[in-house]
Amino acid sequence: MHNKSIALVTGANKGIGLQIATDLAAKGLTVLIGSRDIEKGRAAAESIGTAAHALQLDVTDQASIDAAAQRIRSEFGRLDVLVNNAGVSHIPAADGSAPEGGLVEAGLLTVAPLEDVRKLWETNVFGVIAVTQAMLPLLREAPAARIVNLGSTGGSLAWNSEPGNSHRAMFGNYSASKSAAHAVTLAFAFALESTNIKVNIACPGHTATALNGFSGPRTVEQGASEAVRLALIDSDGPTGTFSDENGPVAW
Ligand code: NAP
Repeated sequence: MHNKSIALVTGANKGIGLQIATDLAAKGLTVLIGSRDIEKGRAAAESIGTAAHALQLDVTDQASIDAAAQRIRSEFGRLDVLVNNAGVSHIPAADGSAPEGGLVEAGLLTVAPLEDVRKLWETNVFGVIAVTQAMLPLLREAPAARIVNLGSTGGSLAWNSEPGNSHRAMFGNYSASKSAAHAVTLAFAFALESTNIKVNIACPGHTATALNGFSGPRTVEQGASEAVRLALIDSDGPTGTFSDENGPVAW
């Protein structure tokens, strides 16, 4: 049994996930770099140092998820923190070309191909459920496990319901998937309320990453900070909350 706390971050080979893993390693945790491409995971782990280990994990592939859970049990013997960070903003065309009219318009549910809707939800919603379910036996054995999901104000039903909110024009496949991820977070938090496992969801804010063509004004350090805080809350900390570094975000 590994004597340090162990954190698994999905989609940790780049972006906010890599920063969350870097920050958790700096706090003394051993971090498992979930990456669907193991070579990218290894490179990310090397950039952090000996506290980081690459773990092949495609959150849309049940065999990959099951193998990852098995490897964590056999090699590390424990899991204390799960950060469900992996996410996609759109499904790229097979030839890599951008959709006519732009990504936002192509993601509106009035026009988005149902196949793309299913694929995006497979990562952003069902991936969260599948990975959490697979890791739960390990998390239940930990003294005080924490699950942190990555949400978005863009998926806030309360915020988008305000008639004057200009973001409503962008509320399509991605935003709806994040609303669903928020609901999934609450469902796990409620079901685990009687345990030592706390489940919360963090909003990183509009952060410059590949997800948005590096258009966000925030740095990955800023984007990672609330997820890292929630991963390390003590037994007095909350469960079933949605927040950024300024406090609660409307569901
Ligand atoms: P990013 O730089 O594009 O990173 C996304 C990560 O998810 C990559 O490591 C990617 O791996 C991984 N991923 C995608 N599909 C996967 C799959 N099926 N299995 C495993 N990993 C998979 O994006 P980011 O901005 O850091 O996003 C991290 C999280 O923050 C996402 O959940 C996103 O929705 C959320 N978020 C971001 C922003 C923002 O402004 N950036 C705002 C709100 C919420 P590959 O390298 O293999 O593609």
